[in-house]
Amino acid sequence: MTFDSAGPRSRALFRRAERVLVGGVDSPVRSFAQVGGTPPFIVRGEGAWIVDADGRRYLDLVNSWGANLLGHAPPAVVAAVRAAAGDGLSFGAPTEREHRLAERIRREVPTMERMRFVTSGTEAVMSAIRVARGATGRRRIVKFAGGYHGHLDGLLVRAGSGVASAGRAASGGVSPATARETSVLPYNDPAAAERFFRRHGSEVAAVIVEPIAGNMGLVPPRDGFLPTLDRLCHGAGALLIADEVITGFRLRRGAIHPTLGARADLVTLGKVIGAGLPVGAYGGPRRWMDQVAPLGPIYQAGTLAGNPVAMAAGEALLAARTARTYPALDAAGATLAGLLESEAARARVPVTVHRRGSMVGLFFTQGPVTDFASAQAADSARYARFFHAALRAGIYLPPSPMETLFASTETTPEILEQQRVAFRRAFAAVAGEND
Ligand SMILES: *Cc1c(COP(=O)(O)O)cnc(C)c1O
Repeated sequence: MTFDSAGPRSRALFRRAERVLVGGVDSPVRSFAQVGGTPPFIVRGEGAWIVDADGRRYLDLVNSWGANLLGHAPPAVVAAVRAAAGDGLSFGAPTEREHRLAERIRREVPTMERMRFVTSGTEAVMSAIRVARGATGRRRIVKFAGGYHGHLDGLLVRAGSGVASAGRAASGGVSPATARETSVLPYNDPAAAERFFRRHGSEVAAVIVEPIAGNMGLVPPRDGFLPTLDRLCHGAGALLIADEVITGFRLRRGAIHPTLGARADLVTLGKVIGAGLPVGAYGGPRRWMDQVAPLGPIYQAGTLAGNPVAMAAGEALLAARTARTYPALDAAGATLAGLLESEAARARVPVTVHRRGSMVGLFFTQGPVTDFASAQAADSARYARFFHAALRAGIYLPPSPMETLFASTETTPEILEQQRVAFRRAFAAVAGEND
């Protein structure tokens, strides 16, 4: 069972990388450990496409795990980054760029009355949890199975994304005491949340949820799930944290959770707001956020937080959106989901396809997929074969069955339609093996 779709240069680069970087990579899923084979090494991105060290061109449906809203190297963002870099890369002192980006974000996420920039989604979540614990004086955190919130100790418990497909219930190096402070409930199960809160509600500092789960594949919330969490949290004096590191600014202007019947106390952002540079943000009403240093006793800091080049990238990206941006993303997602469904049906390969805007979930199962257990029941070996067939046909999919496919404004319906034959070939490669 070896599929190696990478070219000779990528293979040589990977061998060299493995001699100095752990597993040859800086983030586990990139190593292709979940699908086998060697990852192509990327040298360049342009619009919807990426090009590897062997000169092969792929339609990119990862888009930096959702960070690239406008595709690769959008001219307005590149120009802003060049200009900001020329003015100096970092000062460790306030710059105007930070509050300018913050003002832009708050206009679209008004509940982030006060916010802080950090350098990753992980850091945003870690800081939001600290605020929730500091503000409530409670310890317990509730998350949902299959939810991924970054690699902070307390949330590497039954997490999705790379942690999930590595088949680990938690990570090594997380102390049992830390893991015990996190309670894991099933996603999309309001009754389980009700039962939990009846017993433990008064111990809960925060419930953290991806309003639309994007790290166990794409699993949308059922009607009533998020409103129930809202009611339970606010009835018990716990904070609701909407982890919108993926969904924020990807599905619409601002956050998605208010459209799903939830009022979050704290919101975490990342990915899109940095336009591909390392940025995270967390924020909420002054009531909570004014407890952060220097105004309050909850400490949080960062040498490179609010980095001027990263702020320039985020501001330029958010400013470059037009009235056509989100409709274009929606059209891209609809075309992609339609293509997957029709080509799978043609090849008689059972799939479940989910879509919200430009985010698409592809599960090799008849479904339904509503939570971590049903997502994990999909055929991951078949995904791996499909993945490599697609790669050989020039389509770069997430190298793990537990991830979401992302389109950008550059992934136009026309470009996708031109790839129909490639998708057809990939489904043909996994056809005829139904059990
Ligand atoms: C990606 C992600 C994170 C972590 O962000 P990093 O920048 O990778 O640290 C947190 N929460 C969600 C929902 C994510 O998808």
